[in-house]
Parts: sequence; C-alpha cells; structure tokens
Amino acid sequence: MTTDCPDCDGSGTTGHESDCPAPEEDIPGSVASLLQTIEQPLWMEHAACRTAGPLPFYPEPLHRADLAREYCDSCPVVDDCLIHAVVVNETHGVWGGCSPRERRRVRKAWVLTGEIKRENKTIWPVRAGE
Ligand code: SF4
Repeated sequence: MTTDCPDCDGSGTTGHESDCPAPEEDIPGSVASLLQTIEQPLWMEHAACRTAGPLPFYPEPLHRADLAREYCDSCPVVDDCLIHAVVVNETHGVWGGCSPRERRRVRKAWVLTGEIKRENKTIWPVRAGE
C-alpha cells in the first residue's frame, strides 16, 4: 500500500497504518469529487448568484424565495450547490434551488440510501457516463 503519511515508510510495519490518511489515488472517484465539492468549492465561481448578494437567498420567515429560485433555475452548478449544502448541512437559506425544509428531506434520504437526489434523479454519486 502506498501512503501519504509522513510517518510511514511504506513497509507496513510501523503499526499505525490503519490511521494513516489514504493516498489520493486510493479514494474512489465519486468520493474524491464529493470531497472537492465540499472542500474546494470551485463551482462557486460559476454560480448564477455570484453577484446577487445574499438577501434573495435568505428571505424573512414566511416569505417566499421566488427571486432566489429564479437564479437557481438558470444556474449551471445547481447540483454542486445542493450537494454541498446537504453534505455540510446548511440549515438556512436557499441552496441548490431548495429550501431548508426541502434539503432536510434530501439529507434524510442521503443518510438512508447513500444517494443525493433531486426530483428522483441521483445527482451524487455521479456514475460513469452520466
Ligand atoms: S444553485 Fe442557486 S444558490 Fe446555488 S450557486 Fe446556483 S444560484 Fe446560487
């Protein structure tokens, strides 16, 4: 096994290999892309709302978020945004075109099934060819 751990020599005899960080090449593609979505949200550079400011996305209680949804409907990174919000458990505002209540449902299903879905379509994990 290769390792990215600075304390290992690759011999497998140091005794703490089970605690070592996995080398990047051992991380399955879908999990690696999930980590990138969470840790390095490059997708935000392409967000339709990047110049909109936060107000439309955090409406007053009992007010609708129609303007936010208009942005999200035309957003090229809407799935990345929803995946991010579900995984980091964003509890406020509109993310990925979904309200906090809608995201709670998506998150509950993710915990149960391992899949993040939008309108019954799996958006994570992304399968080859999709
Ligand atoms: S999906 Fe909506 S909230 Fe997310 S980046 Fe796009 S416009 Fe912004």
